[in-house]
Amino acid sequence: MFSSKVVKVGNVALGGSNPIAVQTMYDSQIAECDVDQVLHRMRLLKAMGCDIIRFSYVSSADRDNFRRICSAGIMPVVADIHFDYRMALEAIECGCDKVRINPGNIGARWKTEEVVRAAMDRGLAIRIGLNSGSLPRGHEGCDKASVMVDSALEYVDWFTSWGFSNTVVSLKSSDIDTTIEANSRFKKQCDIPVHLGVTEAGGVVSSCIRSTYAFSRLFDLGIGDTMRVSITGSIEDEVHAAVEILRAMGYRKGGVRIVSCPRCGRHSFDSQGFLSRVENRLLALDKDITVAIMGCQVNGPGEAKNADVAITGIGNKVFLYLHGQLYGDVDVQNAEAELFDLIGKL
Ligand code: SF4
Repeated sequence: MFSSKVVKVGNVALGGSNPIAVQTMYDSQIAECDVDQVLHRMRLLKAMGCDIIRFSYVSSADRDNFRRICSAGIMPVVADIHFDYRMALEAIECGCDKVRINPGNIGARWKTEEVVRAAMDRGLAIRIGLNSGSLPRGHEGCDKASVMVDSALEYVDWFTSWGFSNTVVSLKSSDIDTTIEANSRFKKQCDIPVHLGVTEAGGVVSSCIRSTYAFSRLFDLGIGDTMRVSITGSIEDEVHAAVEILRAMGYRKGGVRIVSCPRCGRHSFDSQGFLSRVENRLLALDKDITVAIMGCQVNGPGEAKNADVAITGIGNKVFLYLHGQLYGDVDVQNAEAELFDLIGKL
């Protein structure tokens, strides 16, 4: 089993015996966004189980909004930097908690050193982020896992020579075997915490399956201190997927457990549409409960018995259950409000 030394990212500690931290990456340009909306969404993501959030910092136009996002203190904020080291210096000056860079695309070594020294002055973390899709020139056709590991170890040596130790590394690939191989080989040589991800993993279904497979293999080896499930979809889905993976593997406990039926020709309540409307709100509740959302009388009352709160459609009505006992019936249009009212009583 591998272990990692501890690295602090704001108030979140990675490595050691700390829990595996969940990350996502904001999906809009900082300069273009409504900061109040971003902060509202970050609070929801945090309530859903997100620990760290990353933003692409692409130009000086991002500065004012990014400063406000960092100073809100909702969760540690990471600046994602490519090509221009001066954007990293700006993001650090804005108050971010961590910078993610690939020294291979920053240019001259002294530029990376400037970033590292600025981060060191403020006690920040840096993630050396390597991706098999952007290997250093001249390595096309080589074994991707080896090139990523060799590059990561070389950059770690640079950082160490500058006296910097608050380093995290990621070795990502869209190929599962390359991801597993690269992370396993890296951890054999280094105790730096790793950020796991199967990158460009597709939509919800393919990403969840591929990420779960890769992460479970790596977690079993003791590899993985923080993770992102990269989904071509919503960032709320990314956080939901990451938390569900951790819970399924026993690394996280508690929270809202949703039981819902897949729907079939018998349904008299659109459990699918209802779930899509209420799911993120349910997952953000600070409660340790099971909620069942069922489509008809076949399995609805039975699942309700095993849930703290349940809702099911029977005929033209929607029935609510509290601790397995029928609580009442309501019109479909009031179902959402009544469900959350009932949960509020717990
Ligand atoms: S609960 Fe009813 S609607 Fe849902 S899958 Fe089972 S039989 Fe079909």
